[in-house]
Amino acid sequence: MVDSQSTERIFHRVLKDKWQQISHGEGIYLYDTEGRRYLDACAGVHVVSIGHGVKEVVEAMTEQASKVCFTYSRFLTQSQIDLADKIGAMAPEGLNKAFFISGGSEATESAMKIARKYHLSTGNPQKHKVVSRWQSWHGNTVGALSMSGRSSWRQDYDPYLLDFPHITPPYAYRCPYCKTQNACQLNCVEELERVIHQEGSENISAFIAEPVLGTSACGVAPPPEYFPAIREICDRHNILMIVDEVVTGFGRTGLNFAIEHWDVVPDIMATGKGLSSGYSPIAATLVHERIYDAIYQKETHYVHGHTYGGNPLSCAVALAVQNYIEDHNLVERCARMGDLMLEQMKALEALPIVGEVRGKGLLLGAEFVADKETRAPFAVERGVTAMVVNKMFDRGVLIMPGAPGLIDGVAGDHIAVSPPFTIDEAEVKETVDVMREVILEVGEELGY
Ligand code: PLP
Repeated sequence: MVDSQSTERIFHRVLKDKWQQISHGEGIYLYDTEGRRYLDACAGVHVVSIGHGVKEVVEAMTEQASKVCFTYSRFLTQSQIDLADKIGAMAPEGLNKAFFISGGSEATESAMKIARKYHLSTGNPQKHKVVSRWQSWHGNTVGALSMSGRSSWRQDYDPYLLDFPHITPPYAYRCPYCKTQNACQLNCVEELERVIHQEGSENISAFIAEPVLGTSACGVAPPPEYFPAIREICDRHNILMIVDEVVTGFGRTGLNFAIEHWDVVPDIMATGKGLSSGYSPIAATLVHERIYDAIYQKETHYVHGHTYGGNPLSCAVALAVQNYIEDHNLVERCARMGDLMLEQMKALEALPIVGEVRGKGLLLGAEFVADKETRAPFAVERGVTAMVVNKMFDRGVLIMPGAPGLIDGVAGDHIAVSPPFTIDEAEVKETVDVMREVILEVGEELGY
């Protein structure tokens, strides 16, 4: 018999002496079993866009659960059809074929395979490599990890990873090109062209990028010319453009999809997290009808899929979430609260250890530096990111640590902030006030 407080049967992702258990959530708050309240200023992991405990979603869940929770992929259910209609109508023009899976890694991995299948179907069987960027995250499965540009998470599994090229991301604060120029010359875009020549365009199937970075360098976004230039290169070399909207999709940056900020239509879009706001696991890879039609020109079968893809319960939940976002104008609210939060967080750049604050909508980040002039990072051993995150946790505000190795795969401290879209003005102020207090305290402890 295992005592109810023991966690010894769990394969933990991190070892600690004490785990807080969450008893329930309401709005932007989580409550633990000891009665502590936490302001969830990272929406879990950029997931819970509509806040916790929304009764309309629970009602939709109950209604679907009372009908059917699982069907074999031989069948469809109304919830799957309705959800595909809903998100197809929201997505950029033409991206109206939804391939349902359970999470973001499956969404990017499916995107990779759909791109491959498209090239097989259109007479380019050699095209298979996906070009991606450093300081990126596309997920933990082997294909997704091969595309991801996060050294710290890749290194243990390196022997399994596919031979995919990575290029420099548009990360202006640390751009090796911009450093020596007054303005951005889009040299990182030229790198794509260079890699295509080096690898041979006949081998390259797709390019994948997050329009606004998530936890790898939260809030970093490229200049207006970036994605149009990428689109042009992809078209010229018959390379599919995949955008990873697992974090940014469904309103997080203040528009339905972040790529709309650049007015570019990709060929494939991977989505996840915000689709169901975490109420049930579901993700969708949205595919342009042109790609779909090309695949099905000769085939009657697309060989790839996962057991829970199109799960009727998850589809009903996601549909209720998207209806709730629409009915309450939450995307517009996200844009408004995001502007307010960015303005308040930007003021933190005056603090001694804050190098840069950045973001779009409610996807924001702050980077810490040991020297604001040279932008030198803190020594990794100082654990500055953890100091900030833990002190905020102690004050009841949850934010995410930015992924390790922000700058060069090893060094770099930063945080990620992404509250539910339902956050109000007072809660924005409270979050940023606590952040300011904590960053000042950490600075003092570091001798600033
Ligand atoms: N893509 C991006 C941009 C992500 O941030 C993540 C996860 O954080 C993924 C893909 C992978 O999603 P999942 O963890 O649901 O597999």
